[in-house]
Amino acid sequence: MVELIIHNARIRTMTAASDAAIVADTAVAVAGGMIHAVGGDAEILSHARDETRIVDAAGATLTPGLIDSHCHPVLGCSATVGIDFGGMVDLESVRAAIAEEASRLGAGEWILGWNLDYKAFETAGIRGDHFDGVTGGRPLAVRFFDMHTGLANSVAMERSGVDGTETFADASEVVVDEDGTPTGELREIPAYSLVFDAVPQGPAEELAGTVQTKLLEMAASGVTGATIMDGDRKTLTTLQALEELPGGLPVRLQVALWHHPGDDDSAVAQRIALLSSSGRRFRVSMIKMFIDGVIDGGTAWLHQPDTHGESAEPFWPSVDRYAEVAEAYHRAGFQLATHSCGDAGVAHVTEVYSRLDPSAGSGAPHRIEHLETMTDHDVDSLVEADVVASMQPLHMQWREAQGTDPWAARLGEERASRAWRVKDVLTAGGRIALGSDWPVAESDARIGLAWARLRRRPGHPESPVFEPAQRLTGVEALLGYTRWAAEALGRDDLGTITPGSQADLALWAADPVETDPDELIATPVLLTTVAGEIIHQTQEVTS
Ligand SMILES: [Zn+2]
Repeated sequence: MVELIIHNARIRTMTAASDAAIVADTAVAVAGGMIHAVGGDAEILSHARDETRIVDAAGATLTPGLIDSHCHPVLGCSATVGIDFGGMVDLESVRAAIAEEASRLGAGEWILGWNLDYKAFETAGIRGDHFDGVTGGRPLAVRFFDMHTGLANSVAMERSGVDGTETFADASEVVVDEDGTPTGELREIPAYSLVFDAVPQGPAEELAGTVQTKLLEMAASGVTGATIMDGDRKTLTTLQALEELPGGLPVRLQVALWHHPGDDDSAVAQRIALLSSSGRRFRVSMIKMFIDGVIDGGTAWLHQPDTHGESAEPFWPSVDRYAEVAEAYHRAGFQLATHSCGDAGVAHVTEVYSRLDPSAGSGAPHRIEHLETMTDHDVDSLVEADVVASMQPLHMQWREAQGTDPWAARLGEERASRAWRVKDVLTAGGRIALGSDWPVAESDARIGLAWARLRRRPGHPESPVFEPAQRLTGVEALLGYTRWAAEALGRDDLGTITPGSQADLALWAADPVETDPDELIATPVLLTTVAGEIIHQTQEVTS
């Protein structure tokens, strides 16, 4: 039975033959959650039955639904509570925001926050005691925007039992003064989790409800699918709880299970047992690992140390162990997704991937996440090994014109100019997939599309353009969020408008390919469907 017809549309199928073209067809019929037929209005409307929902697109542009290739909706919803420090680049404004939050809270309540900028600490250093005068004796635990560094005060340390003697199986660190007292800086997730784990949690349904709201917000920007990059049992429990809620899980989620460097073989076996665990709209299919940290924090893995003499080592104490578990997960049928911001990390992961026996895996390509700076040789090796570059050009939003930002200052001019080489990967014949990394950056896919095309702040033509030669065309940017993102999942039933593929669709008030990217960020998405079910709809569309 045809349950949905969308007619009177301009259709971008994003199939290979017609990437750049609007096809002659103007209507789509959906049956059983799949695209049943694509054709002219009269032909498709003849499929209508009494129960068929009919949407008149009134000339709007229909594209495949967008796939955010890298995000953290569950972790992000539990992490983005408290103060949003976005835009605060000096210590005074951070202190004022903490003082204001403290005045709202009861005695002894946790002061939480996220989206801190490293720039605010450039001269004073990252320390918890900067805020001792304004917390009123409350515990303080906040995260930096990239989610790789935490900051806590002495009260939070005491509540969580962190005393500076902690050791980690990876390069995580509770940073201490010369006398061994923690400074408050907590480098990498295993270190800051020790403190955040002590923060009281609400019930699973509460978090599930917040995640549902977040995913619906993403759907309002055309998103119909995403990859969760930090999965564990809590993620799966939350998604199960979400599917039980009224309205259920709105978008399609692929879950990557997170392997930590210190995890032993029994942990590997437990994850392998979870492969293909699924719900109605989520599925475990990937393993996420980190080969390094972040350039701004001095924890990336670069061919040569950064200008502070840091970022010269991998995150793993033994890269042989990384190769060993990569092999085990590959043979089990997982796709691999390894975080690497630095060029040496990209080179190493590419080499490890290229040694894996292709006939033993799932057939889906392996991926590297972020790839913020690469040499020409790294690009060539990556492309030759057919590894997907899963990139987020909107992460350039923290850069500054003269290279004065912490990211560029640590890299130096030459390496900073080899940034987010999306176009070079494509030109060399490689694969890219685009995403937001929310809550690191905005989850609104229109902002991600605009950054990929402009490489500057959308809506601000006066702002600096970073590496203009790497700008993508409108079609390339949309492919990065649709067909290429689907291919990066090994899925040929997503990312295009083709009979037999999933009816995950987005209807745009103006063509997302042709619209000026500065205007695209405010272009309404009128309707979004997942498996033919309308999950977002504005009043402009009647059905
Ligand atoms: Zn991430």
